[in-house]
Amino acid sequence: MLVIDGCTVVTMDSGRAEYATGHIAVDGNRIVAVDAGPAPASLHAGRRVSAAGCLATPGLVNTHHHLYQWATRGQAVDATLFGWLTQLYPVWARIDEDVVRAAATAALGWLARTGCSTTMDHHYVFPASGGDVLGATVEAARAVGLRFHPTRGSMDLGTSAGGLPPDEVVESRDQISAASQAAIDKFHDPSPGSMLRVGLAPCSPFSVTADLLADAAALARSRGVRLHTHVAETAEEDEYCAEHFGCTPVQYLDSLGWLGDDVWIAHAVHLDDGSLRRLAGTGTAVAHCPSSNARLGAGICRARDLTAAGVAVGLGVDGAASNEASSLLGEVRQAALMARAAGGPEAMTVRQALELGTIGGARALGRSAEIGSLERGKLADIALWRIDTLPHAGIADPVAALVLGSRPPLELLLVNGEPVVEHDHLVTVDEQLAAEAARRAAARLTSSSG
Ligand SMILES: [Zn+2]
Repeated sequence: MLVIDGCTVVTMDSGRAEYATGHIAVDGNRIVAVDAGPAPASLHAGRRVSAAGCLATPGLVNTHHHLYQWATRGQAVDATLFGWLTQLYPVWARIDEDVVRAAATAALGWLARTGCSTTMDHHYVFPASGGDVLGATVEAARAVGLRFHPTRGSMDLGTSAGGLPPDEVVESRDQISAASQAAIDKFHDPSPGSMLRVGLAPCSPFSVTADLLADAAALARSRGVRLHTHVAETAEEDEYCAEHFGCTPVQYLDSLGWLGDDVWIAHAVHLDDGSLRRLAGTGTAVAHCPSSNARLGAGICRARDLTAAGVAVGLGVDGAASNEASSLLGEVRQAALMARAAGGPEAMTVRQALELGTIGGARALGRSAEIGSLERGKLADIALWRIDTLPHAGIADPVAALVLGSRPPLELLLVNGEPVVEHDHLVTVDEQLAAEAARRAAARLTSSSG
């Protein structure tokens, strides 16, 4: 039994209970008590964390990322999405499992440092000579200790067939189908409390064929795994869909059976009212990536309109190559600020922003019965933030301190009851070794560019 005592607790439960001073007890990988006041003496803790000056929240949930991109940060820094992709595809064509392992370990380590306990990964570049790049991300997640939802991504529409990616980074539909089935067979764990669930994720309307989207939906539904893709990210994508399919991106997905409560889509920036209602009506969830959208000048997602319509909205840092910061807590702040910049000061409260980063993300990944809030019986994924030091001491509202202030030191991050971060440092992997390996991986990709 581990007891965290004397902290402010923001539960994100259905009543949004908050305790100015409270406690949380963890037995194994489950939360067994969350309440106001000091922990009862009857709780016999093997470890007791005196947490005065701290704020406990659910561990944050990251609903969109490309871990391998940690090795290609800081490139095409002033480009639009299509310009950025066109510059980076040839670099990504040279990744292999060693590069991906180093990039993913660093990316996951930093996600943990920013309060993330569960993350997805969308991996869609599989060079023929690259080895087991998906397996490398799984290895990295096990080493860092995060709950992991990797998706087997794919691209089959190269430049010669009218797509955006160069032909050398696309695969055939047969290859993709076989690899997707193999990924589910090898890694997917559907059991309660699972640390690893696989999804399928063709990349985007301009890099995959309609046949591939249909294949993926059929396979996902036959195997009971979730579906993910990029949709409605930029105005250019709108134009591409109008020209090639004669409809909006969301209508295109709809025509292929790609909307439903087993689907979550990244971005959803350019939505008309009809598309927004259709997402709500079908139970399709959204991964909102505010920093990436701002960095690429893509636009501002209608996050509050989506949540008001009942859509499950989570947050994503998106790939590190379009969000060098890759801080999940940073996305909570960015979501609040961008919503207000577009819609006024009441467009998103600090608590609504934190909802997106916690229970909203859990809903988007289909895990809201298990994670995303601090409740008795849920999995012990807990972030404990220190808010009594120089940048935060004296801020009246602890949630405002967390969401609007600087990133606070992370006193403790528990994932499945196990410490991953203590006193603002990773305890599962060596941060300096991870940083050095990531630097070497990035240098190798750059030096082989010729
Ligand atoms: Zn993305």
